[in-house]
Amino acid sequence: AAAAPPQRTAVDTHCPYCALQCGMGLRPGGPGAVPEVVEREAFPVNRGALCGKGRTAAAVLDPRLRLTGPLVRRDGELVPAGWDEALDRAAEGLARTRAAHGPDAVGVFGGGGLTNEKAYALGKFARVALSTSQIDYNGRFCMSSAAAAHQRAFGLDRGLPFPLEDVARTGCVILVGSNLAETMPPALRYLRELRENGGKLIVIDPRRTRTAEQADLHLAPRPGTDLALALGMLHLVVAEGRVDEEFVTERTAGWPEARSAAMAHWPELVERITGVPLPAVREAVDMFCGAETGMVLTARGPEQQSKGTDTVGAWINFCLATGRAGRPLSGYGCLTGQGNGQGGREHGQKADQLPGYRKLVDPAARAHVAGVWGVDPESLPGPGRSAYELLDALGGEVRSLLLMGSNPVVSAPRAAHVAERFAALDFLVVADVVLSETAAMADVVLPVTQWAEETGTTTNLEGRVILRRKAVDPPEGVRSDLHVLHGLARRMGREKGFPIDPEEVFEELRRASAGGPADYSGISYRRITEEDGVFWPCPDEGHPGTRRLFLERFATEDGRARFVPVTHRPAAEEPDEEYPVFLTTGRVVAQYQSGAQTRRVAELNAAAPGPFVELHPRLAERIGVAEGEAVAVTSRRGRAVAPARVTRDIRQDTVFMPFHWPGEGRANTLTNPALDPTSRMPEFKVCAVRVEAADGP
Ligand code: SF4
Repeated sequence: AAAAPPQRTAVDTHCPYCALQCGMGLRPGGPGAVPEVVEREAFPVNRGALCGKGRTAAAVLDPRLRLTGPLVRRDGELVPAGWDEALDRAAEGLARTRAAHGPDAVGVFGGGGLTNEKAYALGKFARVALSTSQIDYNGRFCMSSAAAAHQRAFGLDRGLPFPLEDVARTGCVILVGSNLAETMPPALRYLRELRENGGKLIVIDPRRTRTAEQADLHLAPRPGTDLALALGMLHLVVAEGRVDEEFVTERTAGWPEARSAAMAHWPELVERITGVPLPAVREAVDMFCGAETGMVLTARGPEQQSKGTDTVGAWINFCLATGRAGRPLSGYGCLTGQGNGQGGREHGQKADQLPGYRKLVDPAARAHVAGVWGVDPESLPGPGRSAYELLDALGGEVRSLLLMGSNPVVSAPRAAHVAERFAALDFLVVADVVLSETAAMADVVLPVTQWAEETGTTTNLEGRVILRRKAVDPPEGVRSDLHVLHGLARRMGREKGFPIDPEEVFEELRRASAGGPADYSGISYRRITEEDGVFWPCPDEGHPGTRRLFLERFATEDGRARFVPVTHRPAAEEPDEEYPVFLTTGRVVAQYQSGAQTRRVAELNAAAPGPFVELHPRLAERIGVAEGEAVAVTSRRGRAVAPARVTRDIRQDTVFMPFHWPGEGRANTLTNPALDPTSRMPEFKVCAVRVEAADGP
């Protein structure tokens, strides 16, 4: 790898964590010193602002907090090993399974935090070096419902079809199941500017979050009922003659069926299902339709449900019927979560997709990508299992696994069961920065470089492809994920096709994506540097990139957006006598995902030291717990214990737990892996639990 710049000037790069991908500068420290994060005001998305995770991001570069050499399991213990031994063992273990049980007995699990280059190389490695169909990634747990609904309605999935700056200039934003104040605080500025410009903000969330506090109107539906709420609002739009008939006629298809479905959800029924008073629903419709332009933005709340695709679809129908899509300053968008939540799904680590966001079952797509890879299209495997189904098959049909950039033992639903599946594997290889809870179960652990130690692109939630630049050298003994894939592929007889240099991989990715829905062929490292990011699709070097999609036509064959009729259905698990309370899960600002990195940062740990159970004072009184006392939360999948946080900012029938921690406070011990039939998204956001006082966490 290239040496880091010798000077102490700050290198322009991006935060390693969430999908906002804030610009920052990183000034290398002296020998042995941790580098310093500095503001980078010129980057337009965050204009220098960072949350606590971004400000402390350099801490995780400290060699004392992470892995600095490979580990192999010997006599049941993970012990230090050299790279050659570790890679030999890893390659032999995977090859052994393949020889004994066939290629599909080897699985690959990736992550939405991997750079575009790594996601691309991992997908190629699975399909070319391992010949397995069994690859998926943790982004399936993040945005797959929104992606499926996007595809269905617009023919193309890009999280936001417009830049974030448009959010500040629209007339009204409905934010559904998104708590920006905790997930990406610098983005709050767009909502603040929206309101300063006279626009309105409606927040839909079962909790009165710090984001909801800033809204003009907050609706708090019962968990899992946002679909009914969207239908009820659409019903009112129709009943009050507020449909944009001209837009519907000229730009859409399928309205009669969607209209009928919405009309079956009359307002009083919706009030009963959601628990949101009818006057508040009317007020929301008045507010949204009273503005000239408007947006609906969703996040994990409506998406992480067993009906997530239809729930997002209901909000898209609402946008289409009101003419708030495919027009300036209007539209539906999804706020992705992980650092490369957008790019991570475009380049082939998803079970059903090839680079360029192509469908794996499309013969033309297979021929194109196989041509770039120099292999026979017939040799490419078909679609594999989705993320949870893949994890559920570990130790069964899938006997060995290569895991990169994910920690499913904490972050997957029904986590205790998932941990059992990992324990049942014949062989596990994990490439990670730290010894995560999942890495600790591996047979071979390969320590890899992280954000500031390597160069690579990510694609932020706007579809803006950006470049994280190398600013410091990694500790000795650490190699890049690309290096790992190169080493494994070579040991499997693939001398060529897996370069170590990220720019070389990106150049191949450009060719593989050419002509596909997510066309990167006009994007280069040079352009990204000069233009502070380039929006895809960008089909040639003279193309300016596409900041706003769908203004002329949608990406369907006939250019029309599709209404899809959807109807309310209950969550897979509703409260009953035995489990009478809803559980919903989410994030806190000081931790990220499974916490594998952020739990190691002292400042972040001090701010958010452990899990908690948020509950209403009435519920707390009923079960006899006070603030800080231990609460046991039990679902059909297991039991978690954490201190009570008593607040009136949550519904009386619901408790909330953040999911960043392992151990007895692990929220995902409780969550339900019921899957959305289209996106295969598990129902993280709603399940039924019993809460009671515990003896102590
Ligand atoms: Fe990093 Fe996201 Fe925080 Fe920005 S908002 S500093 S990208 S974690």
